[in-house]
Amino acid sequence: MAVYKTMQRRMLLDFLESHSGESFTVKELVAAINSEHDDAVPSESTIYRLMRELVDDGTVRKDVDVESRENVYRLSVDADAGVSMRCKVCGSVYNVDGESGRRIKDELSRCGAAPSDDNIELLIKCRKCGKSEQ
Ligand SMILES: [Zn+2]
Repeated sequence: MAVYKTMQRRMLLDFLESHSGESFTVKELVAAINSEHDDAVPSESTIYRLMRELVDDGTVRKDVDVESRENVYRLSVDADAGVSMRCKVCGSVYNVDGESGRRIKDELSRCGAAPSDDNIELLIKCRKCGKSEQ
């Protein structure tokens, strides 16, 4: 049973790692993992429980989506360079993974900016808002 649970946890983490920087509701996680795996897909209640554990131990961050008011989860990247993207239309915040974040800061200092250790927020238009305008 413990092994089984570890497997489900691994499955969830693998998924979040391969979609680093994106946020998902539990329902989206269930649907996405279902479409990627044929066997032993954790149920919605199992994912809820696993996510709570992962949030507790700091592996995953829980945010509230500004539009739907639903809880969304994403991998919390400790090696996070402190760069995030905020949609200028709806205000959703997207994480930039540590490696890309550092590259952005490197690029900024090359251009003469002196990015401090402060967090940098990039203004973007998210996919959802980009679409609704077409
Ligand atoms: Zn948006």
